[in-house]
Amino acid sequence: MSNDILVINCGSSSLKFALINPQTQEALLTGLAEKLGHADAYVTVKQDGAKETASLSHQPDHAGAMHAIIATLKARNLFDQVAAVGHRVVHGGENFKASTLIDDAVIAEIEGCAKLAPLHNPANLLGIRTAIECFPTLKQVVVFDTAFHQTMPEHAYLYAVPMSLYREHGLRRYGFHGTSHRYVSAEAAKVLGLPLDNSAIVVAHLGNGASAAAILNGKSVDTTMGLTPLEGLVMGTRSGDIDPGAHAYIGAQLGLDLDGVTDLLNKQSGLLGLSELSNDCREIEDAAAEGHAGALLALNVFCYRLAKQIAALTVSLGRLDALVFTGGIGENSSIIRAKVIEQLGFLGLTLDASANDAAIRGKAGKISGATGPAALVVNTNEELMIALDTAALTA
Ligand code: ADP
Repeated sequence: MSNDILVINCGSSSLKFALINPQTQEALLTGLAEKLGHADAYVTVKQDGAKETASLSHQPDHAGAMHAIIATLKARNLFDQVAAVGHRVVHGGENFKASTLIDDAVIAEIEGCAKLAPLHNPANLLGIRTAIECFPTLKQVVVFDTAFHQTMPEHAYLYAVPMSLYREHGLRRYGFHGTSHRYVSAEAAKVLGLPLDNSAIVVAHLGNGASAAAILNGKSVDTTMGLTPLEGLVMGTRSGDIDPGAHAYIGAQLGLDLDGVTDLLNKQSGLLGLSELSNDCREIEDAAAEGHAGALLALNVFCYRLAKQIAALTVSLGRLDALVFTGGIGENSSIIRAKVIEQLGFLGLTLDASANDAAIRGKAGKISGATGPAALVVNTNEELMIALDTAALTA
């Protein structure tokens, strides 16, 4: 019987996919097409631990990737099991407060949000259009990174700028990583035996991009990212919060226009800019262990800013039941988790050092000591959340 969900996460030059059984919550097949738009594009498919790579040079674009996915599903007798397709879309603006079935009006609204995410939404739309062409009989669903944060109150999402910018141009804080924050906060409540509708949780999603969110009774009430995914925490190559006055200063000093400054803050800053070594947290930790001054500095700024933002987010919760770490860094870096929890000791947080050291490479669990708010590691699973939403909306 066909009841599996094909999950598509389409970027400008990549297409990530997974076939997920929403009942068993198992990923039957996962894959990634890379370098789309370049002659040497290729696709990697993983099933049962075995990995296969194939060139896409005959059609090195998104349609070529989608055809390769269909071919591999057919070759593995999985094609007829696909019941629906779920798509990740980065920006849903204020129009989308939840996942939704795709129709022409929804596509037009996603197009309308493209001015808010010019790098992401057009690529997401390309994935949607290609999937509709390739799977014309299947229902398709969109799941937005911004939707979960649509419950933020006005005082959290407004910037203190002329209100006409909000009313006429949609300038406000939207927040991102919503699918991860929603999944991880619900999982954390389950693990801790907390009723989700009476819980106060901060989730720190720390990957190449990083954001923290305050989730009260299962709803997002504040988050560190804003109009764009540049606001908030220190990230791999993104600066996070910076004085808006710095734009003019950097522009004048380096002779850059606004696009140039924005590019510098997005691509040359964060861990990379501070360490002058790498944007990759593993490399930074290895170098710091050998005494590399830039790496040590990058870790210190990263952890301090994270702790400061987590403390700030507790204002919107009024209390803290749990602090949850997720994402590549959150799920693996016991060093960063320990440093952050230590700096948040005044909130009552304590660390179980051996549980913290053990919570790496897929091993999740509680890492806090006997007293104070819980601290834990949860492995995020955005693909599963997309599959579950898609199954629910197409049932
Ligand atoms: P993305 O935001 O692209 O999904 P990920 O969630 O995969 O990113 O996170 C990537 C980050 O996780 C990188 O900075 C990487 O160095 C870091 N990371 C992965 N494994 C470890 C580890 N064992 N220790 C520290 N950092 C790690």
